[in-house]
Parts: sequence; structure tokens; C-alpha cells
Amino acid sequence: NKVPSVLLNNGVAMPQLGFGVWQVPDDEAEKAVATALEAGYRSIDTAAIYENERGTGRALAASGLPREELFVTTKLWNSEQGYDSTLRAFDASLELLGLDHVDLYLIHWPVPAKDAYVDTYRALEKILADGRARAIGVSNFLPEHLERLTGETSVVPAVNQIELHPQLAQAGSRAVHAELGIATEAWSPLGQGRGLLDVPALVAVARKHDRTPAQVVLRWHLQLGNVVIPKSVTPSRIRENIDVFDFELDAEDLAAIAALDEGRRLGPNPGEFNVGA
Ligand code: NAD
Repeated sequence: NKVPSVLLNNGVAMPQLGFGVWQVPDDEAEKAVATALEAGYRSIDTAAIYENERGTGRALAASGLPREELFVTTKLWNSEQGYDSTLRAFDASLELLGLDHVDLYLIHWPVPAKDAYVDTYRALEKILADGRARAIGVSNFLPEHLERLTGETSVVPAVNQIELHPQLAQAGSRAVHAELGIATEAWSPLGQGRGLLDVPALVAVARKHDRTPAQVVLRWHLQLGNVVIPKSVTPSRIRENIDVFDFELDAEDLAAIAALDEGRRLGPNPGEFNVGA
């Protein structure tokens, strides 16, 4: 279960596969994260709005793992956008996590109607300069938001975390990220387990490799160069999802999976998602 790293644009190494904890209640997060750490995950993806930073932090502390072996991401919620409110929200996240720094801090959504993501990002630049985040970035930013942000601020985001799975392959965003030196991180990498994993073409590739469809999808992401953060609270699945470093998809497999792209989102369109504005 040796997870490779991707090198972010500021030289920080980020594990290419991590553990996501969206929809895991705070009182279950400690157990789920502990199971993930035991299985070999070292990167954990949480967010203020998930309301499980405390449970996540407890598992990190209880693991006894050296801080420098862990990679912790959290995100600023929409309602806290703005320079001063971002600094306050970041303090609150650190407190709940029980950490003195995070590895990656992200703006959760652009929230176009609020028109505050540039000022918000300036607060992230301050947090970075103060050494309280080792890298900063964004989530759910469309190319138009990235264009404006990079035009008006000085630190190119290290990461853009976007919805990405075989049915929403995001070729356009991936190309823009590559051009700008931004790592692409895939959220809902398994399509939330909603139908994708039963698609016959995917099941066929899984049979060919004597693997599960989830493992094949994660392999597809890794071979594309995406950072992935699959979520599960089931111990056997948590272990299954990191057991993907001893097989490889061939060109035919990759083509079969590429044919599944429908450009269909499971989540909201970031250009129109203004909750918390
Ligand atoms: P996912 O694609 O990781 O799917 C998780 C679901 O798939 C599980 O709940 C389970 O039902 C199923 N599953 C997991 N492993 C399986 C396996 N081995 N076999 C069969 N079924 C399996 O979905 P997700 O939780 O939405 O996304 C992963 C992480 O991405 C989240 O936990 C969160 O950290 C992050 N995320 C971020 C945003 C954002 O706006 N930035 C939005 C959604 C999710």
C-alpha cells in the first residue's frame, strides 16, 4: 500500500490517494479515520461544513503518527468568505483539528454571487505566509474563476478539487490546470457509489484484472495523474480502496473507461451554487 506523491507547484509533496470524510458524523469520524490510518492512508480530506474536524483531529492525535507523515486538508465554508472572516474560520478549524498547521487549505466553492473569492484567497495567502498551511488552493473553481483569481493574486493555487469520475471526466478543467501548474484533485472519485460501479463495461475491466470496479476506477484516476480521496466507513472497503498499487490498466481498459464520460454532474454547477452567499 505504498502511496505515491504528487509534487505540488510549491514543492510540497501530497499523497496521490487520501481518505475523504464527507457525510461521516463527528462521532464516527474518529473510528473511520483511525481505520484509514491503520490501512496506510496518510492524507485526510475534511472541511468545516462536514462538522467532523474534531473527530478527525482526535484520530490523528491518537494514531501516534509523526505530524510530518500526515497530510491534512480542510476547507473554508462559503458563509465565511471575506478576508477577516476567513482568518477567523481558519483559526476555528485548526482548533477543532487540534493542529498548529494544515497541509492544504482550500476555498470550498467560488460562490460567484458573493463575489468574495479574491479577498478570501488573499487571506489564504496570509495563512500560507505565516506557515499555518503548507499549501493553499481552491475547490469547485471553473476555468473562468481560476483565470480571474490568478490574474488578481500572486500565489497560484496548488490544487483545484473538483467533481471528477469516469462519467464526468473533466477534460477541459484538467487541461487548464495542467497549463497553470495546478494539481487536479477528484472529489466523488467513485461517483458516490451511485450506479457507476455497476456499469457493465467497468465490471468487465474489473473481472479481467480480478479486481473490484472501485479499484479499477481508482486506478484510472491514478494513471490520469489525479489526486483521489475516496470515502467509505466500511473497514473492508477502506482497505480495498488503497489496495490499488499492484496492478495497471492497459490502453484498451483506459479507452473503455473513457467511453463512459457523459459530462453529467452529481453535484451542483459551481457557476450557480451560491449557498451561504
Ligand atoms: P465517493 O465517490 O468517494 O463515493 C463514496 C461512496 O461510494 C461510499 O459512501 C460508498 O457508498 C461507496 N463506496 C466506497 N468505496 C466502495 C467500494 N470499495 N466498493 C463499493 N462501493 C464503495 O464519494 P464522496 O464521499 O462524495 O467523495 C469523496 C470525498 O471527496 C468526500 O468524502 C469529500 O472528502 C470530498 N468531496 C468534496 C466535495 C467538494 O465540494 N470539495 C464534494 C463532495 C466530496
